[in-house]
Amino acid sequence: MRRLLLLLCLSLVTWWVWAEEAPRIILIGPPGAGKGTQARYLSDKYNLSHISTGDILRENRKQGTELGKQAAGYMDSGKLVPDELIVTMVAEKLTGDGGFVLDGFPRSEAQAQLLDGMLAKVGHPINSVILLDVADSDLVERLSLRRSCPTCQRTYHLKSNPPKKAGLCDVDGTALIQRPDDKEEVIRNRLKVYHEQTEPVLRHYQDTPGIIKIDGRLSIEQVQKQVDASLTPLVPH
Ligand SMILES: [Zn+2]
Repeated sequence: MRRLLLLLCLSLVTWWVWAEEAPRIILIGPPGAGKGTQARYLSDKYNLSHISTGDILRENRKQGTELGKQAAGYMDSGKLVPDELIVTMVAEKLTGDGGFVLDGFPRSEAQAQLLDGMLAKVGHPINSVILLDVADSDLVERLSLRRSCPTCQRTYHLKSNPPKKAGLCDVDGTALIQRPDDKEEVIRNRLKVYHEQTEPVLRHYQDTPGIIKIDGRLSIEQVQKQVDASLTPLVPH
């Protein structure tokens, strides 16, 4: 009887361990929705590789890898880096059984299909898609009221986090500026591009079991709570 119990316990433990699956997350959201913050949180909490294509491109260029040189050729002539090249660079980071969070990637349906193909080969498909949803009008307000200090890079928000003296940095007194990226017209254009590219990606992943849409206007902590809840089926403990 004791043996039988022991066996039962052992098989339960085995089942429990096997039932756990590394989160393989795609994090989607418009510019200014707080993707970077959430990606860092996820990667720390669940021990995931944080993969941002911007970082990967810079890293490959800096190290002078073959892929980096190819990408540099496109970038320096003002062309878009082809999907195949980007996905190959990302795939190099996705070897092994570990979980990951893809920050702002895939950016188009073509990239999503290439990515799925590569992940299918190793039997580790995407099992979580998190959309940080924020209305365009909120983002325009969030970003267009942002001011930055060119000396210490601190950022302020004219409404929610204004400097103590209007127009000047609290730390070093430098005159604050509005980054070209934060001008309303530029933001609206970035949002337009985002919607055109991302909506097909969302449709592509709409049947993923772990897909969740989170209201990005919530506080960072509230968003984290919802993210955690959505990952519970994958990481039960
Ligand atoms: Zn400053």
